[in-house]
Amino acid sequence: MADYKFFADMCIAICVDCDNFKEIIIYGEPKKVFRYINGGIFADKSIEKAEREIGSFLFDLSSDCKMLNYLKGSSVAVPDDNVTCGYLKKVIDKALSARIGEDELEWLCNHLEITQTVLIDRDFEYHQRHISFTPSRDPNTDQAIDYLLGKYVKDDMPMMIIKGKNGAEYAVTDVSLVSMVEYYIRLLYSKSLFPRYCLNCGKLFIAKSSLFDVLCSDACRKHRNSEKLSRYKEKHNDEYEAQYMKVYQRWYTRIRRAKEKGQLAGDNLQLCNDIFSNFTSESYEKRNGVRNGDISPEAFSRWIDNFEIQMNMLWVDIK
Ligand SMILES: [Zn+2]
Repeated sequence: MADYKFFADMCIAICVDCDNFKEIIIYGEPKKVFRYINGGIFADKSIEKAEREIGSFLFDLSSDCKMLNYLKGSSVAVPDDNVTCGYLKKVIDKALSARIGEDELEWLCNHLEITQTVLIDRDFEYHQRHISFTPSRDPNTDQAIDYLLGKYVKDDMPMMIIKGKNGAEYAVTDVSLVSMVEYYIRLLYSKSLFPRYCLNCGKLFIAKSSLFDVLCSDACRKHRNSEKLSRYKEKHNDEYEAQYMKVYQRWYTRIRRAKEKGQLAGDNLQLCNDIFSNFTSESYEKRNGVRNGDISPEAFSRWIDNFEIQMNMLWVDIK
């Protein structure tokens, strides 16, 4: 470790806390970064440090910050919250100001290519959903890693794992982020955490309860639920259902009571029962029609009104 020559004398270290769904990225001069990891006093003053939601490292690299273009001289805007690309930008600036040689430039190009690619795209997500599991129920990560990083040469692996003073594990590298991405993905999968796109807002997030956890936040879950509810209400317009139930109950009770009191018997009872049972069986189809949108709630309401008029007229005659 001590004799490894970090590119542009810069390094990045990542510590993933799967239990608390957090990650820490620190970067700066290697000896200062190592001093921080080892718990050096005031060491955080001389490094850059960001503590964020788990997955942020992958999301940084999945954004469209074109670091390779930046190296080639194009201007690239890196948002403040994109810590990983911000780090790469500093490395590039430092390398360019030190007038690096052709070979080093080529090496840097090769390693930056990964940031040019959308790492986590819809295809990856689809692929991820069909991940197989080992007999010990661990996700078989190889397929996903191959899909994600297959086209990148696994380099001579300049990534090291070191334990911090508090036992936390840090992965450290310079600009060769391929190994770090692999390490990161394997770590997430081993805890059954999977990168996904939120079905409501489209944001990348880490599914925490299962591979099929599809919404990123309570806000999105709430939004989705209220959408579902309003769709349900549209389908089951409560008003027409309530009107139907009210009329049904009224005539069911009237006919039953009149029969019990002997006010309704013989042909008249038969007639009332026939009309009422027609009403209920027809209503079944008509209510389905309203749900499917074939019948408007207003038309359904008029049909119920007609039934009531008909029954009221009959009621006057037979009682
Ligand atoms: Zn969302």
